Amino acid sequence: MQVHTHIASLRAARVQAGRVALVPTMGNLHDGHVALMLEAAKHADTVIASIFVNRLQFGPAEDFDKYPRTFEADREKLATAGVAHLFAPDEATVYPQPQRYYVDPASGQTDILEGASRPGHFRGMATLVLKLFNIVAPDVALFGKKDYQQLMVLKNMVRELALPIAIVAQDTIRAADGLALSSRNGYLSATERAEAPRLYQQLTALANAVRNGASNHAELEAVALAELAHHGWQPDYLTVRRRTDLQPPQQPDEALVVLAAARLGATRLIDNIEI
Ligand code: AMP
Repeated sequence: MQVHTHIASLRAARVQAGRVALVPTMGNLHDGHVALMLEAAKHADTVIASIFVNRLQFGPAEDFDKYPRTFEADREKLATAGVAHLFAPDEATVYPQPQRYYVDPASGQTDILEGASRPGHFRGMATLVLKLFNIVAPDVALFGKKDYQQLMVLKNMVRELALPIAIVAQDTIRAADGLALSSRNGYLSATERAEAPRLYQQLTALANAVRNGASNHAELEAVALAELAHHGWQPDYLTVRRRTDLQPPQQPDEALVVLAAARLGATRLIDNIEI
């Protein structure tokens, strides 16, 4: 695997790469990321991964500085997963001057759920992803359903800006006890790690109830939120939404997803299940 820290080097390699799949990450890679790399290989001749912890998508009180950076271990995992090129730029390469041009996703998509809790997050994320798209010029790009709203924002960005890139969604990879794999799981104490699967359990219980015909979403959401709070969580949201735009369901036959974000101690976890 070739590691590129500069744009020119990556672009030179891209010329020979044929059909390219890009998998953007922030590093500290786990089996969820590896699943994305393996899936990417099915869609292209060449898989290009990126590792960049994007300051623009972190709020001032968020964990940018302490976000885990584990480059050597990441490099080995990517090489083992068959990734041909790793783009791992430093900040001065991606942001040689303060960024003044941004992708501003539609407010209805970014002031709800994650956007309500993390103002500016999607603007910073989408700006970086568009920049990566322009640097790499991939034919296809892969993202995890774990970050469901991110996936929606990016699909809409690609469509509305007519980018010639196919977006492929990867199902969420979980630990044996159901906890969605996340770089932030490493922040959890042993006690918190034992408690953490409750988020998935509550989402599963609610999803099953809705699948079995329950339509009292608000009541089910309140029960799940109370259960989390009772066990020491501070939930931001746990809510049934329609998959297409993450707005509250309007019609009985819409495809749904239940999404949640909650803090356990100092760690904020998110998860979701398609119903
Ligand atoms: P991150 O490094 O957290 O920015 O994630 C990079 C990509 O991996 C994003 O598209 C995430 O949605 C995806 N991802 C993160 N965790 C998982 C997981 N447990 N299963 C599948 N994809 C994931």
